[in-house]
Order: sequence, then C-alpha cells, then structure tokens
Amino acid sequence: MKINTKCVQAGYEPKNGEPRVLPIVQSTTYAYDSAETMGKLFDLEADGFFYTRLANPTLDNVEKKIAALEGGVGAMLTSAGQAASLISITNICKTGDHVICAAAIYGGTFNLFNKTLRDLGIEFSFVDPAASEEELNNAFKENTRAVFTETLSNPSLDVCDLELYAKCAHAHGCPLIVDNTFATPVNCRPFEWGADIIVHSTSKYLDGHAVALGGCIVDSGNFDWNNGKYPMLTTPDETYHGVTYTEHFGKAAYIAKARVHLMRDLGTQMAPQNAFLLNLGIETLHLRMARHCENALKVAKFLESNPKVDWVNFPELESNKYFKLAKKYMPQGTCGVISFGVKGGKAEAAKMMEALKLAKIVVHVADARTCVLHPASTTHRQLTDEQLLDAGIMPNMIRLSVGIEDVDDIIADLSQALETV
Ligand SMILES: *Cc1c(COP(=O)(O)O)cnc(C)c1O
Repeated sequence: MKINTKCVQAGYEPKNGEPRVLPIVQSTTYAYDSAETMGKLFDLEADGFFYTRLANPTLDNVEKKIAALEGGVGAMLTSAGQAASLISITNICKTGDHVICAAAIYGGTFNLFNKTLRDLGIEFSFVDPAASEEELNNAFKENTRAVFTETLSNPSLDVCDLELYAKCAHAHGCPLIVDNTFATPVNCRPFEWGADIIVHSTSKYLDGHAVALGGCIVDSGNFDWNNGKYPMLTTPDETYHGVTYTEHFGKAAYIAKARVHLMRDLGTQMAPQNAFLLNLGIETLHLRMARHCENALKVAKFLESNPKVDWVNFPELESNKYFKLAKKYMPQGTCGVISFGVKGGKAEAAKMMEALKLAKIVVHVADARTCVLHPASTTHRQLTDEQLLDAGIMPNMIRLSVGIEDVDDIIADLSQALETV
C-alpha cells in the first residue's frame, strides 16, 4: 500500500460481519474463561488483552496504522506527546546516563529533559541543530545512550540532517530518536534515513482537528541493542518473570519493553475515545498535509513580498538556510507552520494579530484552522527583550499555523491586518 492508502486503510481489518469502522472498545478489562489463560497473558506467553493500561483493541489498531505509516515494527500510543518523549528516553536511560539533544526543540520537551529528567540524574548536552559531523562526534561521552532531535523543529523550523545525525549516533552505538510531529509520516519517514525510534505529538497534524491530546512512540526494529550498553533490554527483567526483551521480542524489544515495563508503571495510556478520534483524523492526513503545505508556501511568499514584514522563516523559501535539506528530506513539502516578524517590534506584532479576523490567537499549532501566537506577549511574556533574543525569539515574531481554508481568504486576512500597523 502507498502512504495515502495507509492513512485511510492501515491498521483495522474487520472480519466477516464486524463493524466496518474501527469501534471504540470502552472497557478497562477483558473476560476469560480460565485462570490459566489469563496467567499465560501475564507471563507474556500468549497475546491478548487483559487491562487497558497495557493494551486496548481500539488503541492496538491505531498503533498498527501509525507503525505502518512510519514503516516500523510496532508502536505505542500515549496520553500526550510529552509522555511519548518521556518514555522514549527513560526506556533506555537511567540515572548516570547521558543524552545528546538538538538545542532547537519544542519548549515542553526542553523542560522535560533539562529540568525533570536532569533532576532524576539523566544528563543532557544540547547541540546546535545544524552541528557539523565533528561537533556532533565531540558531544559523545562514555555514558551517552541516545541522540534526540526533531525532523522540523517547533517553533524555529530547523530542518535536521537526519542522515548525519544517524551516522554519528550509530558510530557511537546509540539509537537516534526523532520527533516527527511537524513533518508527519506523509512528508518525511525518518526510518528511511537511519532513525531508530520516532515519537509524535498526535495532538497536532495527526489528529488535525484539535480535539484530542495524544502521543505515540514507533520502533523501527533496526537498532541492535546487543552492544553492552542496554542491559535493561538484553538481560532478564525480574519484574517480568525474568524475560529478556531482545530474546523474547526480537526486533520489537524496545517497544515491547516500553509497554510492559513503563506503561505498566507510569499509566500514561491514551483513552480509547481519543484513539478513535485520532484514527478519524489520520484517515485524511495525506489530503490535509498537501493543502497545509500548498497554502503555507503561498502565504510565505506573500509575507516575503509585503513591505510591513521584516523577515519570514519557512524552509521552503529559497532564501531559507534549510532550503536544500528541506528539499532532500521533505520533497513534497514541510508543514503549515511559518514564523515571521512585523516591522517595528512587539507592539506592532501584537496590534497586527489583534486585527486578524479569520486567524484566531491560540496556543495550539498544526490543526485545520489558521491560528497565530505571539510568543513575546504570551508564552514568553515574562522575559525581557534581551532574554527573548537569547531564547531565539525575536520580540516581533509571530508564529503562524496555516490551515486548510481557501488560501485567498487567509492572505486577505493577513493583508488587512498588516495594513493596520
Ligand atoms: C506539541 C508538541 C509536543 C508535546 O506534545 P503534547 O501532545 O502537547 O504533549 C512534542 N513535540 C512537538 C514537536 C510538539 O509540537
């Protein structure tokens, strides 16, 4: 199946007489006729559902769909993107281990790593997202256990050189974990470029309607954990009757452990209702991404030619420093998010935003409706102009998430709002 068909059809396959549409299995628990059958499930000797914190049929089908879209051996849904990032690291890192991470990543992920996981004793080094091979190689230490990056960073839109990151990670016996939220598997499939693990905030384009929070981890099955650095996967887990994940689950060792160990312990499971909504969203992902990209490129070109606009950041503009990498990794388009600066400063940017009619001011990005955010007066309002620049945020910066409305209406709205400043 091609990717467009997978969006619609992968995952759920109804048997004779079963519902055509993926049903919501709104049950925490599952009935069995013997204690022995259930015992086998607990011992991981048989496949089946016994408690929704570990697995649920609705989630299972959506997990299969996302694994098929990314080309992985297995996937696990989580309650939010944050939980996916948390588990992606803690599944293979413990106190005393070290992780290399691109510095331009989603603010929530940065806090999770730099504060919460650091407090728990995992060490992080943040590198320039455009680091050279030498700079990347120099960041590795004896205790490095993973490299983390975003395909297309939120909100700065840095494009990761995935092949280079994978090469450096593998040279040091570490997996490359990629947050593919903004590109989505329709526009980029990081496993094809050497990534080993993918995480998603499904709250963004995969859902697409801004109705359900969620996250997902996908395992490529390609990383060889038997290099002495990952005893949690290659030696017996006494909390699961001495199972050795790499022996019992083979290529799916990482994602199996994420579920039976961390999902069991942390309970950050997605609700079946949200998995149902997510699946509906993914059915049109390929159509929506094509429209988001088409609209965003037209809007970026409009902004670039508008005299009230100071600068535009969108990787598909030829003037952008990531133009070549964007064409290599995302030839069909990147995503619908653009950032731009209004001439003047903070006050002019805020004024322009308030004059918008179609585009609403919201914290969210990457859904069907065009929306804007002014980081300097909202998410980062406690910072001075100087601190904003240190954080890579220009005081006049507006983050624009271009939706799938008629692009003429989006441009007309931006145009009338720019005229007010
Ligand atoms: C939103 C986002 C997250 C966090 O996801 P939630 O679903 O909000 O927890 C992680 N990574 C990226 C790139 C995001 O945009």
